[in-house]
Amino acid sequence: MRKLCRCGQNMNLGFRLVIFENKFQVDRVPILECEECNYYEVLPSFKADVIDLLSQLKEQGESVRVYFTEMNELADVLYGLSSQAAKLDPSAFRVLLEQSCNERINLLLDIYGCAQKLGDTAWMNEIAVRLAPLSKFVKKGQSLSAK
Ligand SMILES: [Zn+2]
Repeated sequence: MRKLCRCGQNMNLGFRLVIFENKFQVDRVPILECEECNYYEVLPSFKADVIDLLSQLKEQGESVRVYFTEMNELADVLYGLSSQAAKLDPSAFRVLLEQSCNERINLLLDIYGCAQKLGDTAWMNEIAVRLAPLSKFVKKGQSLSAK
């Protein structure tokens, strides 16, 4: 996961508290940051999800603080690996990330099976929502830093 900053330096994976309109706080948003010039941007493949979450928060209207990693399972897996990101080269990190996503998918599928046995449709739906970003990422094989 490498991308060059506009100043020419490599940008690194990080997580940051992002505040919108002085009111809505979304913590642990995956970003790419440049140590050289302090520029940062939301990791491109999460931009749409961050915007979705923001519009949901705006609809609810209350000033709240949420963790993006609790709303997006792929971000959560990535957060768990963030200390490895700087140590590994991009292709090794990519392999690790895919492995971790597959492990999380298997875990969620187990839980889904339990929910199904109980006939708990609300729980099943919740797990399906959590699975979606993971399976999309694994199937598409897209780069996180691509738009
Ligand atoms: Zn820079």
